[in-house]
Amino acid sequence: MSETTTEIIDDVIVVGAGVSGLVTAYRLAEKGHRVRVLEAAPRTGGVIVSGRSDGMLWELGPNSGMDTTPLIDELLESLGIRGQRADARKIADRRFIVRGGRLIPLPMSGPAFFLTPLFSAGTKVGLLREPFIARSSPESEESVAAFVRRRLGPEFLDYAIEPFVSGVFAGDPEQLSVQAAFPKLFALEQRYGGLIRGMILGARERKQQREKSKNNAKSFSFNDGMQTLTDALARGVATANGIVETGIRVTAIAGETQGGWTVRGVGGDEQETVYRACAVVIATPADAAAALLASLKMPCADDAAQALREIPYAPVSVAISAWRREAVAHPLDGFGFLVPRKENRRILGTLFSSSMFDRRADEAHAVLTTFIGGMRQPELQGRDDGALREMAENELASLIGVKGMPQWTKISRHPRAIPQYTLGHLDRVRRVEAIQKQAPGLFFCASWRGGISVGDCIRNGHQVADDIGLGRHKCSSR
Ligand SMILES: Cc1cc2nc3c(=O)[nH]c(=O)nc-3n(C[C@H](O)[C@H](O)[C@H](O)COP(=O)(O)OP(=O)(O)OC[C@H]3O[C@@H](n4cnc5c(N)ncnc54)[C@H](O)[C@@H]3O)c2cc1C
Repeated sequence: MSETTTEIIDDVIVVGAGVSGLVTAYRLAEKGHRVRVLEAAPRTGGVIVSGRSDGMLWELGPNSGMDTTPLIDELLESLGIRGQRADARKIADRRFIVRGGRLIPLPMSGPAFFLTPLFSAGTKVGLLREPFIARSSPESEESVAAFVRRRLGPEFLDYAIEPFVSGVFAGDPEQLSVQAAFPKLFALEQRYGGLIRGMILGARERKQQREKSKNNAKSFSFNDGMQTLTDALARGVATANGIVETGIRVTAIAGETQGGWTVRGVGGDEQETVYRACAVVIATPADAAAALLASLKMPCADDAAQALREIPYAPVSVAISAWRREAVAHPLDGFGFLVPRKENRRILGTLFSSSMFDRRADEAHAVLTTFIGGMRQPELQGRDDGALREMAENELASLIGVKGMPQWTKISRHPRAIPQYTLGHLDRVRRVEAIQKQAPGLFFCASWRGGISVGDCIRNGHQVADDIGLGRHKCSSR
């Protein structure tokens, strides 16, 4: 590595230009802070990558976000991309679950629940008991699986929650903590004594707060895909006099005795640059954040770094395939389908990507996005592209009747796709946060904390920017 050449002084340095880091940086830049974003990759956006082939839109990362908070629309308005927002078609309200090799619509209303072939009569009648089941102790941590078994029964776990958890976290409900992974679900039980009662009473409160529950929120994307958001955020930071530097891997951070932070970044030419700022936001995945904390010479830093290393990530591979419409027997009249573990298949589920939104493909074509691996079958991550493609095609042939070969398939691998909020997660997050008491000006904002969805990352970015901007940390580099 060549010698350090430059010293640069900013108000805030944000490490990582995924949606979490970019929202934080944009909010700060908008408020007049001098912000610099340092991103290791040659591009911004993190896992959000959109593109088109033969006129068809594909997403290597998230296909959509959930419009759970008014902050999302306010952000789009401020970025000038409100007009490019695409709302999911009405048809996308329908989601399928595989049972016995068939796609069955997930019931979305009380009457539909009692008529569906997805659950047995015992499970349906059992639901009437739910309001009378006692709440758990708020101190005892429970897995998602134990929580659902206790309140709703084992079949509801197997054919609703397990595939749902697989679809959101690529995770295993036996390992995920209900308090950490689904805090709103946990709060419904604690606050109202049950889920059914909580859903009815909680809806009124959400209306007052203008927030929406994830099952009522609309899915959104953009005419040119999710990357519209991160591209606009990066542009927005620059327009507000912030700086976004790609191709700079941050290797170490250090607190200065007189206050403020030193950040060391290495570029593609192995040239090291030293940056100084009064605050640093670590907006990277947990393993990268752990490496940065390990570079700190501070009591507590080792334990915080260790806690970050203990956060497991689910590996996910994505097979995106383009089909001539007549080669697919299923009407593709929905969001997609999820596959329960009990069905013993090789895929986690498939999104009917071109049915979800307009302008994804012309009438003659369909784009399908299939997810493979997760915590259920992590070993599949090691399979080569040809094997993954074959797995997806075979399962699609069996489940939705695709015939022949797709026009093209893209394989995208995410060895560390989604952080798992397993039992003990909240304690791990507390261990990481403990370092902030000793290190004024150090902040965290990434999907390992406060929710993994794009909407959660947007909300968390706002929160961290507000924490810095509202003077909970005083900036004094100017
Ligand atoms: C395949 C997949 C599908 C998904 N589907 C959905 C979905 O449909 N809906 C939804 O809401 N969510 C979905 N998610 C989750 C959501 O997309 C992510 O949680 C969110 O985008 C994470 O953003 P982030 O900024 O926290 O992290 P990232 O996007 O991982 O960004 C972190 C950034 O930090 C950079 N970095 C790391 N180390 C350093 C370093 N030392 N120096 C500088 N930079 C560094 C990385 O290069 C990266 O750009 C999906 C995720 C995946 C992987």
